[in-house]
Amino acid sequence: MKKNISLLGSTGSIGTQTLEVVRNLGLQVCALTAHSNIQLLERQIREFHPQLAVVYEERAAQQLKANLADTATKVLAGEEGLEAAACIPEADLVLNAVVGMVGLRPTLAAVAADKDLALANKETLVAGGALVMDALQKHKGHLIPVDSEHSAVFQCLQGAPNRALKKVILTASGGPFFGKTCAELASVTPEQALQHPNWNMGAKVTIDSATLMNKGLEVMEAGWLFHVPLSKIQVVVHRESVIHSMVEFEDHAILAQLGTADMRLPIQYALTYPERVPGPVEELDLCKVGRLTFYEPDQQTFPCFAACLNAMQRGGVAPAAVNGANEAAVQLFLQKKISFLEIGELVQAALHAQPDVTELTLDTILKADAQARNYVLSHR
Ligand code: NDP
Ligand code: MG
Repeated sequence: MKKNISLLGSTGSIGTQTLEVVRNLGLQVCALTAHSNIQLLERQIREFHPQLAVVYEERAAQQLKANLADTATKVLAGEEGLEAAACIPEADLVLNAVVGMVGLRPTLAAVAADKDLALANKETLVAGGALVMDALQKHKGHLIPVDSEHSAVFQCLQGAPNRALKKVILTASGGPFFGKTCAELASVTPEQALQHPNWNMGAKVTIDSATLMNKGLEVMEAGWLFHVPLSKIQVVVHRESVIHSMVEFEDHAILAQLGTADMRLPIQYALTYPERVPGPVEELDLCKVGRLTFYEPDQQTFPCFAACLNAMQRGGVAPAAVNGANEAAVQLFLQKKISFLEIGELVQAALHAQPDVTELTLDTILKADAQARNYVLSHR
């Protein structure tokens, strides 16, 4: 097995961990992409020698092109460049680890090009799940989840008949503010919200973990990946992050996937699927873990979670709206323009303002996304 990987978002948390796994497994890389971090991207290019590098920001792309004059790597820019990386002929597998809705078009491009797609970019499925699943049915590639919970469910389902699945049980760490009251959260700063107890991740997903938005997005992601309605998805807060998620079958047997909290494990599984090979992740010492605990999520204190469940129930473009509103609100919070609690307020209000649209096309999804972002920017 010597796969050739196109890695979108190579300079991020998932991207850099993917390259560690790629290095360890001796895989090839045919494309790498970043938004603007050309210093790191250049180092990656000089190590992995991809045919194509993409920088979303035009000026940074020009700079990288000049820096790479002595190499054979072609440099492209913008959304078009990302799509070119997603359907590059050399790739056996595309790993999409960009953050946010910007990942949707490249995801669709990869599927249309019959690529196997390892997906970390959950916003893609939340907003455009219907389009992605429809395209997958018409094409040859497989969709392999990278998100740790979904990888866990995917692993538990190997060899199981789909009709026997009764429930998907997603675990949630609860984030840094588990057990806090709204009053205690009123003055939370971005610096505090960026401290996650169990995972070291990019800024956006770390804030999403603190608001429980991340778990709401993951419920919608699970709905698409495993073809289950909201009524068949349960979320349990599991502070230890040892069980990465579970499935329950019709006979009430529950299977779980456990392991050290390290994203390199689900990343490696996505790259080697259906094989399992030795990897860089530490063994889990169960006696050191001792106890495993489970709690109900607190929907009152964390309204982003409730908004996601509501959006999934509404269907249509509501998930795209709730996701777009959240992306805009998280940006404002990180820029210290709104408070922590305002993220939830704005997400709920933007969802409320979104008219129901049941016709799902790329246009209606992008329009709902833009409307929700505008709502947040004009109501803060
Ligand atoms: P990071 O912010 O660390 O990295 C994001 C990557 O995407 C970077 O390479 C960044 O480039 C690039 N990027 C950002 N914005 C754009 C844009 N507008 N156009 C093109 N490229 C862009 O994110 P993470 O790695 O933490 O997360 C990536 C995805 O994986 C998210 O959807 C997240 O929810 C999901 N995920 C992450 C987990 C984790 O442990 N980190 C766990 C499970 C899921 P640059 O560096 O130049 O800014
Ligand atoms: Mg996750």
